[in-house]
Amino acid sequence: MREEHDVALASLTSIRVGGPAARLVTAQTTDELVDVVREVDDADEPLLVVGGGSNLVVADAGFAGTVVQVATTGVTVESDDSCGGANVRVAAGEVWDDLVRRAVSEGWSGVEALSGIPGRVGATPIQNVGAYGQDVSQTIGQVRVWDRQQQQVRTFFGADCGFGYRDSRFKGGDGKRGRYVVLDVLFQLRVADLSQPLAYADLARQLGAHLGERVPLAQVREAVLAHRRQRGMVLDDADPDTWSCGSFFTNPILSEREVNALESRVSAHLGADAPSFPRWPEERGTKTSAAWLIDRAGFRRGHGLPGPAALSGKHTLAVTNRGSATANDVLAVAREVRDGVEDAFGIRLVNEPVLVGVSL
Ligand SMILES: Cc1cc2nc3c(=O)[nH]c(=O)nc-3n(C[C@H](O)[C@H](O)[C@H](O)COP(=O)(O)OP(=O)(O)OC[C@H]3O[C@@H](n4cnc5c(N)ncnc54)[C@H](O)[C@@H]3O)c2cc1C
Repeated sequence: MREEHDVALASLTSIRVGGPAARLVTAQTTDELVDVVREVDDADEPLLVVGGGSNLVVADAGFAGTVVQVATTGVTVESDDSCGGANVRVAAGEVWDDLVRRAVSEGWSGVEALSGIPGRVGATPIQNVGAYGQDVSQTIGQVRVWDRQQQQVRTFFGADCGFGYRDSRFKGGDGKRGRYVVLDVLFQLRVADLSQPLAYADLARQLGAHLGERVPLAQVREAVLAHRRQRGMVLDDADPDTWSCGSFFTNPILSEREVNALESRVSAHLGADAPSFPRWPEERGTKTSAAWLIDRAGFRRGHGLPGPAALSGKHTLAVTNRGSATANDVLAVAREVRDGVEDAFGIRLVNEPVLVGVSL
């Protein structure tokens, strides 16, 4: 376990903002992780758990408590056969994309479309990480957590994790946030050289395949990585378009009444022959595209350049740090976009990254 003081959180986050952590502890084993969380909770002090820092915007004032960086390691293949599939238990601190690369090379199917997503394994159940038609809820068998309320280790089966679009029981709000610290995750993958059926039209097109078709795992990984790079969605130290939290806003899920209201707002804003907005049926309503709303509200790629914060030059959903931005600069751009979309279309976008000590 390593302990440091007054470490700039900007150095631990992909958007490179955030003031000092009063205390930073790096936990290298699961026992260390549980011990430090218990110790902080017993002392009734503030705690922030950080994985890869790729979904966090931390205040410029920093964090007046203990930040625990999860750096635990270990990948255990509990079984690997064509009948039962590959059951792989992965420590929370393992790098997510290392797991995806390994899965593709071992012939474990089910996470290939999630290639290139930054961060650590332990954060993936928190917001049910997803992209290109897959999300981790499809392959998570179990999540083992430290329950800070009950002060004990608990195991949740996939069906009990409350997974939804960018949501799970581990995320929560209203004081629930942070109740669970993820210790490890059991993935249940299919043993196959082919991907799961393609569920994302652009990806299928890029692969010269049809929706629902299965193609070799390595081809899906390469196509996803290429597509993500074009959109600045793979971290790259040399490219400030990637100094972000990925998508800053989630795709709104609308009730029927909101769908009708949006239809009238779109024609009022863009004219009677306006294109209809994208929509996908969801369990809880109709999902539409935050990027579409942002573009149609008049925000262009690179809005705000030269910075200090601006929309990515490749993708209007990402708010980026051009090198010298503060958390306040980042939030000012996000606020301008959120308010512009609300003025144009009456839809209030919600931030995807976790905001620590700041609000939008
Ligand atoms: C360029 C880029 C592209 C991205 N693309 C995608 C994408 O396609 N799809 C997608 O879903 N996301 C995407 N993201 C967002 C982000 O990568 C994911 O949410 C990722 O899972 C965050 O992992 P992390 O380890 O960096 O978490 P962090 O940013 O460190 O933490 C995020 C939240 O999870 C909590 N947390 C972290 N680890 C644990 C743990 N072990 N136990 C309990 N709580 C924990 C933190 O307290 C915090 O609340 C992208 C981000 C970037 C920068």
